[in-house]
Amino acid sequence: MSKTTLHCSFCGRSRDEVKILIAGQEGHICEGCVDHAREIVEQEVTEKADGKSGFKLIVKKPIELKKHLDEYVIGQDEAKKILSVAVYNHYKRLRQTPPNKEVKNKKETAAEEIEIEKSNVIMVGETGTGKTLLAKTIAKVLNVPFAIVDATVFTEAGYVGEDVESILTRLLQVCNYDVSAAEKGIVYIDEIDKIARKSDNPSITRDVSGEGVQQGLLKLLEGTEVLVPPQGGRKHPDQKLIKVNTQHILFICGGAFDGVDKIIARRVNTNSIGFNVNKQIQDEMKSNLLRFINAQDLKSFGLIPELLGRLPIVTYLNPLDSETLRAILVQPKNALIKQYTKLFDLEGIALKIEEPVLDFMVKKAMEYKLGARGLRSICESILTDAMFEMPSSGQKEFNLTLDYAMNKFDHSKMSILKVA
Ligand code: ADP
Repeated sequence: MSKTTLHCSFCGRSRDEVKILIAGQEGHICEGCVDHAREIVEQEVTEKADGKSGFKLIVKKPIELKKHLDEYVIGQDEAKKILSVAVYNHYKRLRQTPPNKEVKNKKETAAEEIEIEKSNVIMVGETGTGKTLLAKTIAKVLNVPFAIVDATVFTEAGYVGEDVESILTRLLQVCNYDVSAAEKGIVYIDEIDKIARKSDNPSITRDVSGEGVQQGLLKLLEGTEVLVPPQGGRKHPDQKLIKVNTQHILFICGGAFDGVDKIIARRVNTNSIGFNVNKQIQDEMKSNLLRFINAQDLKSFGLIPELLGRLPIVTYLNPLDSETLRAILVQPKNALIKQYTKLFDLEGIALKIEEPVLDFMVKKAMEYKLGARGLRSICESILTDAMFEMPSSGQKEFNLTLDYAMNKFDHSKMSILKVA
């Protein structure tokens, strides 16, 4: 074959049509095909790494995300919306084209220079209102690893307790140490309000348990390479550490922030001086102050500004009223009543629950002020005896009446404790 008829063995283009032809043992390849081949290799490698632990990110649009949340979480529309947008934007950022992409024109250059910042979230709401459930459900929908950690177990380096890096240990553990999957995961940090500085005045003596931990969290939240002890706890010198980049890990923090409503009230009142806010609006504002929460209130509560800067999205959850509690019992995909019905069904017993029993459960849950968390204990205290006896009784049906429920509840540990 003469030199002038050389072709790329992959795309068939001739020597004249390409910039360069690289010779192999039995053929040639042009620059275009080299690029294309590299893309295929990169894609394959990432996909393999993604699939190693069974986690493979499924990005969904905000409306779809919210729809999924609606299946499991009752109410909390505002939090669901804000979380869906934050999560969507977060994963959009993750998928941004890498910087080595060929730049085509000026406009594109400008667009690429805009760096989308991480959208870590902070959720404020009473205990048992669905904060953890929201975070857990969103991670499930997206098929990314999810870990829950409690902010109170961490202490600043040098003190007894766990190093903040061990937050990532939990994430690595749930995905079987698949670092690539963990780096796209979601971490829920519970009780973030418990590491608040005790006073808003930073000059007061250093607060070891609170501010130190907040400082420790900063680098994790903003995105950096962290050396993680594979078994958690405290790092020790002879332990092999795993390098994890937190740039694409989404952190969702939650806390009850008891008393923050007073801070909000103070701010809202001060702000409205000079404005003609009518009484009706004022009353409405007072009835659900959490709605107005912002970073400034959280700062007054004792979170340091640097930490708040890394948690740019602030949202709130409503306290659960009896109507919502009633819906939580029966509506979600895995609602408690659906779960008990299935448990009985697996024994071949049809469980029938009278409507007033549900009202009774809700009434007790409200009394005990445990949010939806109380519902489970209430169901257990009513149904445990039945679940103990039924499998051996040969019965085909169980009718749960109000009398039965009240009787069982009144003799339960829960009820006795309340009396004590
Ligand atoms: P939090 O994190 O706010 O303290 P959780 O999310 O852990 O509360 O809620 C505790 C339990 O109560 C959950 O497992 C869930 O079964 C139930 N629950 C709480 N809020 C809701 C809700 N809005 N919709 C459905 N279930 C809820």
